[in-house]
Amino acid sequence: MNDVVEMRDNIDKFTRLKVKHLSGSSKWKPKEFESWKDFWLSNKTEDWPKSGTICDCCREKKETFVGGHVIDDKEKKYIYPVCDSCNSTYGEGKEESPSFYAQKFLLVPFDEKIDAKPKED
Ligand SMILES: [Zn+2]
Repeated sequence: MNDVVEMRDNIDKFTRLKVKHLSGSSKWKPKEFESWKDFWLSNKTEDWPKSGTICDCCREKKETFVGGHVIDDKEKKYIYPVCDSCNSTYGEGKEESPSFYAQKFLLVPFDEKIDAKPKED
């Protein structure tokens, strides 16, 4: 029994990465795309989460996913599909972001100096 739990935890270390939402990221707009979802899709062949997919942050089934900015323990930044409510609550810094486990194969590295332009307003 314990062996199974230990084995699963070890597999998780390879397939999952602990991240948090990056607050204040709404100031960045994608340089070459309409949205961060489009930026993500241009870097991935995987399907975008469908309606009814469980959001990895809140662990609830959600309708709408957006490309959220997340950051890991080593300060590396990524775009990751999260539900729109988690993105607006934590991405805009309304509440302190909890840590959650992102699936590594769905993370797209992001560098604001290369991939973003300042919001025009
Ligand atoms: Zn969520």
